[in-house]
Parts: sequence; C-alpha cells; structure tokens
Amino acid sequence: MTQLKQWQHKDAAHHLHPFTNQADINKKGTRVISHAEGAYIYEADGHKLLDGMSGLWCCNLGYTQPKINQAIAEQLQELPYYNTFFQCTHPRATELAEAISHRAPAHMNRVFYTNSGSEANDSAIRMIHRYWDALGQPQRKAIIARENAYHGSTIGGASLGGMEFMHKQFSPLQDIHHIAQPYWYGANADISPDEFGLQAARELEKKIQELGENNVAAFFAEPIQGAGGVIIPPDTYWPEIQRICDQYGVLLVVDEVIFGFGRTGHWFASECYQLTPDFIVFAKAVTNGFQPLGGLLISDRVGKALLSHTDDLAHGFTYSGHPVACAAALATLDILSEGYIDKVRNELSQAMQDYWLALGEHPLVGQARCKGFVGALELVKDKSSRERFDKNGKAGTLCRDASLQSGLVMRATGDTMIIAPPFILDRSDVKDLTEKAWQALDITLKQLS
Ligand code: PMP
Repeated sequence: MTQLKQWQHKDAAHHLHPFTNQADINKKGTRVISHAEGAYIYEADGHKLLDGMSGLWCCNLGYTQPKINQAIAEQLQELPYYNTFFQCTHPRATELAEAISHRAPAHMNRVFYTNSGSEANDSAIRMIHRYWDALGQPQRKAIIARENAYHGSTIGGASLGGMEFMHKQFSPLQDIHHIAQPYWYGANADISPDEFGLQAARELEKKIQELGENNVAAFFAEPIQGAGGVIIPPDTYWPEIQRICDQYGVLLVVDEVIFGFGRTGHWFASECYQLTPDFIVFAKAVTNGFQPLGGLLISDRVGKALLSHTDDLAHGFTYSGHPVACAAALATLDILSEGYIDKVRNELSQAMQDYWLALGEHPLVGQARCKGFVGALELVKDKSSRERFDKNGKAGTLCRDASLQSGLVMRATGDTMIIAPPFILDRSDVKDLTEKAWQALDITLKQLS
C-alpha cells in the first residue's frame, strides 16, 4: 500500500471530520495535504495548488514565515505554558494585548483571549450578559444576528449563526433572533444597492421594536459575510446599522474572525466601515493560522462596566492567552506591520478590481465582486434574469473541483465561488489566479451543458 493509501485508510477508519460527509469521503479517499510553501499547498501525490483561501481564511501571510516559527520555538524554550487565571499573567499575553489594542479602533483597549473564533463568540455572549447586569438591566438578554451568518460551531456560535442546515442538527439557544442579510444580488431586488442596504439595515430597527428595545442586548454581524458567500453590504448598510445601535443603546459586536488583521486593507474592517463596535471578535489570521488563538477586543465603555463588578469573572479557558500562541501572534503582527496592510489596501485590492471583476464577463458568472483581498463569483444559468441552476450547489461543487484540476483552491458556498488569497501574492499572481479561475469556469460550463 502506498503511503498515501495508508493515510487514507487510517483516516477512514479513525478520523471524524468537521464539515464533511464522512461516508462520502471514506468511499472516495480524503485529499491529503502533506506540505506547503509560500502561497502553495501540496497534496501527498505531489499535486501543487495555489491556495486561494489562505487555508481556512487564516494563513494570510502564506505558509513560509520563519520569524513566526522562530518565535514559537523560542517561546517553547522560555515558557511553554502558563495560564492567565487567578491573578497571573506572562510577558507575551501582556505584550500582545497591548499590540492588538494599539492597532484597534481608538476606543478599544482591552483584550480577552480564547482559542478560537467560536469560543470568542460564546465569550461575547457571556460578557454581554455581564455588561447589562453591571448596568442594572439584566432583562436585556435578546440577541439579534443575521440569516446565513457564520459565527462558529460551539452551541453559542452556531446559535448566533444563521445557517439553517446547522440549526437542524442541534437545539439552538433561546432568545437569539435573525434578520435578513444585506445580499442585494441574491435578493434580485428591483431597487438600487443603496436603497436595498438601507432597507436591510432597517430590519434591525424593526426587530428591536418587535422585541422591545429594553430587552435587546446586542447585535452580532460580520462586516462582510465570509463563509455565507462573501456578501459585501451596500455602502449605505453599516452607517444605518451604527445609527440604530446607537439610538437604541444596543451593543454592536463585529465578528472580524475573517476580516481582522488586514483582509480589507485596514487592521480591522470596523475601521474600513468607520464603525464603533463594543466588541470585535478575532481569531484565525492573528497568528497566521500557525497556532490556535482567538479573542475579543472590548470597548472602553464595556470594559469599564465589566471592571465595575466586585466579584470574580467566572469565565475563561485553560489556554486563554497561551504563551506560544501569543508569541506567534506577536511575530505575525510584526510582519503585517512591514507594509502588508497598505499592500492589501493599494496593490492587491486594485489587482482584484482589474482582474477578478473581469471574470464577470464569463457566461457562467452573474456577478463578480470583491473588496480588499476577498472575492466572489455568482454562478448562474442566465445572466440577465439571474436565474440559478436547479439544484443549488451543483454548479459550485463542479467549479470547486474544476478549480482544483486547474491548480487553484477556490471554495464553493452553494453556487457562489469565493476566494481570500494570502497577502504575499503580487499583482501578477492575482492575474495568474484569475486565469486559473477562468479555466475552472470553462470546465464547469462544459460539464453543465
Ligand atoms: N466567526 C466567523 C466569521 C468565522 O468565519 C469563523 C470560522 N470560519 C468563526 C467565527 C469560528 O471560528 P473558529 O473556527 O476558529 O471557531
């Protein structure tokens, strides 16, 4: 048996995969990714792929970053583990909290650490309850989030998320309510994107009024819905959401697990959209995906309320602020500070405008869109009416597989193709990536007809 077959065999016998149809892959054999370099990953059979998804939106600086490796190795020598419970800290946790705060919107100066985005969203729910208790309004428990959002896979994260296929598999938490997403193309609305954006935002106001403004604790949203299909809101959306949160005193939680640390060409997308959130949820790219780390950035007003409690905060994880993960994050922030944020804002977002948007000319593509260094393609049967293919996801799956054949990792969400490539690419790599994508679209079109 080849080494590859042996791995597939062990995997099929003993491994339960996340977000996978296990029976299906056990039949086909899992794709084994054995090594990586720069922006490329390699399958165990040697097949080389340009990673258009930066892993799972996390390896924003690609796979070869010796400075992060070195920081991890040195930290393992110096202090491989200590916790941050019971009045303790360690150097890297303090340095990183300061380093993140310095890059955050000016009113956010406190960090709570978790190991993942899901835990960070769960922690936000806990902190929100604690905040309203401190303010003497414990009845404020209702949370509003959005349909088709992804906020993680823990009970809290998956309840906040608005993905029906996930909700079907467990009992979601009570008192979490969902409003529509600002998906102008998908709604096939007869109104302008700006008008649509305002209407979508005002759903929040309606929901607050329906639930009673004194009962609503917080609104959770991703700045741009990532896993839901890179849903970029119209320009009118976020200013109106901010107005509504301010008017009703509802806390604004911006889940930047994907968009934090440079994806929009700003340290945080909240800055890009000029938001003043109460919490920014982060994870993934904070360590370039090399160590698990997530957390919450907390606004000064929430921080003050949390600190006003006289009892202990009864919440935390064994690995909250793990020293090795914090060391990896400090090195990642150092590298990002070497000009990568500006590179995304100027060079890479321009390359996306020039090359990615041109994919909109392909007969299979109803809309190509991008912002910063993310992009999406809507696959449709008919461009002018925006008619979709009969079975949602079929064209997307074909295109994803065709893309792998063409040497590019693109992800499919239903019939929406998405990319979020690493910032180490340059303009000519973006051109190359879009040529591979065009090739994948050609193969898909042929298969569909
Ligand atoms: N929030 C968002 C917006 C995400 O995209 C994700 C992961 N894709 C999460 C939360 C959950 O993060 P994790 O997988 O690290 O728990």
